[in-house]
Amino acid sequence: MYVRSKIVVANWKMHKDLGEGLRLATEVIQMLHNQVKDKVQVILLPPFIHLEAISKLLPTAGPIHLGAQNCHEHAFGAFTGEIAAPMLRSVGASFVLIGHSERRHYFGEGSALLAQKVSIALIYGLRPIFCCGEVEQTCTVAWQENFVEEQLATSLFHLSAEQIAQVIVAYEPVWAIGTGRTPTPTQAQAMHQFIRYIIASKYGEEVASSIPILYGGSCDTENARLFFTRPDVDGGLIGKASLIANSFVTIVKSLE
Ligand code: PEP
Repeated sequence: MYVRSKIVVANWKMHKDLGEGLRLATEVIQMLHNQVKDKVQVILLPPFIHLEAISKLLPTAGPIHLGAQNCHEHAFGAFTGEIAAPMLRSVGASFVLIGHSERRHYFGEGSALLAQKVSIALIYGLRPIFCCGEVEQTCTVAWQENFVEEQLATSLFHLSAEQIAQVIVAYEPVWAIGTGRTPTPTQAQAMHQFIRYIIASKYGEEVASSIPILYGGSCDTENARLFFTRPDVDGGLIGKASLIANSFVTIVKSLE
């Protein structure tokens, strides 16, 4: 059977000026030199304006890759202040985060728009890292599952099987992002298994089993291994703990 990659993503959000970003990337690259296990990929998502400079630090063939935190839904045009997928490709990005809860919440990005962003990313050769996750901790499992299923169906299920096979899914319960609270690893595993089941129902087992599903939300050096050892948890999307090289590298190394 096809073995899917293990992936750890660093979402720097709106942190680090250029000098700080270059220092952090350099430290991570040096600390991970020859230390990344087979089938593990590391993806750094710095602010847009650091992409080109950081891409020059990365060895051409290696386990560390670059991505952007967002892209516009059109390839070009009169959209002042926006960044398009082909521009991101041209400065060294190969991945793009789409549907992060902060984009949904602060910038009003909804399912239809996110579906467009996923499509344009794929057209221009960027692998989407698509975020989903329920907003409330207190709702029932059935409610959480319906919520996540709706997010997947409305933003991903227009894709062909070949296209969705390029997507990485990140399950990020919104209540866990930046709060220090997390689901238990057993609860996270159950949701990852459900996500894989929903994808399998639409695209079949083979496609579903090839898609990496990452956990995100207060994942840190203490709890990463507990999540990563679950069978449907293929790695993590890391916010706060990715801003310190030591912590991020420890999390990467906790992937089996
Ligand atoms: C995130 O913003 O995607 C995230 C997981 O943040 P944190 O790790 O800080 O909860």
